Amino acid sequence: CTLGPALLFVKTSQGKEEGRRFYACSACRDRKDCNFFQWEDEKVSETRLAAREEYNRNHQPSFTHRQNVERYKNFVLLPLSKRSQQLLLPAEWEKHSDHQFLCDISTAQLKSPSQLLYPLENKKTNAQYLFADRSCQFLLDLIIDLGFRRVLSVGTPRLHEMIQSKASQDEDFRVRSLLLDIDFRYSQFYTEDEFCHYNMFNHYFFGGEAARETCRKFLYQDNGERVIMVTDPPFGGLVEALASSFKKLIAMWKETEEEGHNNQEMPMFWIFPYFFESRILEFFPSFSMMDYQVDYDNHALYKHGKTGRRQSPVRIFTNLTPSMIVLPVEEGYRFCAICHRYVSSGNQHCEICNSCTSKDGRRWKHCVLCKKCVKPSWFHCNNCNCCALQNHTCEKTDAGCFVCGKAGHKRSTCPSLS
Ligand code: SAH
Ligand code: ZN
Ligand code: ZN
Ligand code: ZN
Ligand code: ZN
Repeated sequence: CTLGPALLFVKTSQGKEEGRRFYACSACRDRKDCNFFQWEDEKVSETRLAAREEYNRNHQPSFTHRQNVERYKNFVLLPLSKRSQQLLLPAEWEKHSDHQFLCDISTAQLKSPSQLLYPLENKKTNAQYLFADRSCQFLLDLIIDLGFRRVLSVGTPRLHEMIQSKASQDEDFRVRSLLLDIDFRYSQFYTEDEFCHYNMFNHYFFGGEAARETCRKFLYQDNGERVIMVTDPPFGGLVEALASSFKKLIAMWKETEEEGHNNQEMPMFWIFPYFFESRILEFFPSFSMMDYQVDYDNHALYKHGKTGRRQSPVRIFTNLTPSMIVLPVEEGYRFCAICHRYVSSGNQHCEICNSCTSKDGRRWKHCVLCKKCVKPSWFHCNNCNCCALQNHTCEKTDAGCFVCGKAGHKRSTCPSLS
């Protein structure tokens, strides 16, 4: 489809595979956004193929990345009063007179496109949740303290922007970043060496071999400039598809050196909600989840409110040694000397589990029957033979839950969401 190769899905009901497999869009979970559909065994006629190709051609962006880079150069030469939000050149104003846009775009604004562009809000596909300044700064400081000099920013435009802007202001700032993102609007602000139009659900570079080469070059660490990949994918996305793409990026990194990095892994931060922990560990067993709560600017639920603060469920998963990830004491994190990692202050070390077991920052309690720590709001149910919310309905389904993958409940009653 227009977003690159489709993925092969299989229809299941009650956990059983029904057999018939089909191709659908890798990125759009909603047929309204991309209606590409094809049975695996379906014969597609020449006419339909042609129609599809024509459709894909017509749905390409109106300018190429190269053209956008040229346009940007012309745009910055314009006087302030002639600079509009969409980076329109004066000759194009008339065509766009029916929608509203900001004018007098300053050079500073041009350096922070994530503030200038409206976040895409399509819940299922594109939802853009931008890091709060504090979290973005924390991530960057951490990356620098850990000694990294290159950041492959996959779906993290704000982190990329922070790095770019520091690099342009401070000669001594040595960190570089390459942004891979599906939002083509960024091609208006960054050159082909700074941004690749990329779909992280099917590892598709829209810019073809040249873009792939840009990425490969970036991953090549000369002068020992260490690389880390940071990604913050949409949460509605398929973990399996993401993991498969990330493994391909890791393979690209490995290829860049003959010794294959002595079987090391490419350092990674995968930013995702804590209730996906078991899913992520399935694909990346060497990862561990940090207690740090990642905050967002435009996510009403996940922001720290002034009162009755709502905690963010979003965490950092990493293959780096947990003890190296130093979390800020002034934000309420402490070091657990037994676990050798920083944890939330509310996260008590459980003597029986011999670990700091809380996932959500609250103090959890140990259940001797379940032989593990559980959320403070849970009670042991003798019917279900496990801990659950007091008012749960005792019933079992075999199909795994969409959110946590465990059997026994559906996504609507997933305990990890409560
Ligand atoms: N917190 C990050 C933004 C995360 S929002 C920050 O502040 O930098 C998710 C990001 O992933 C968005 O930038 C979105 O455009 C991008 N994205 C969504 N679907 C994608 C896909 N299929 N492939 C690549 N990037 C995608
Ligand atoms: Zn501990
Ligand atoms: Zn315990
Ligand atoms: Zn229990
Ligand atoms: Zn029960």
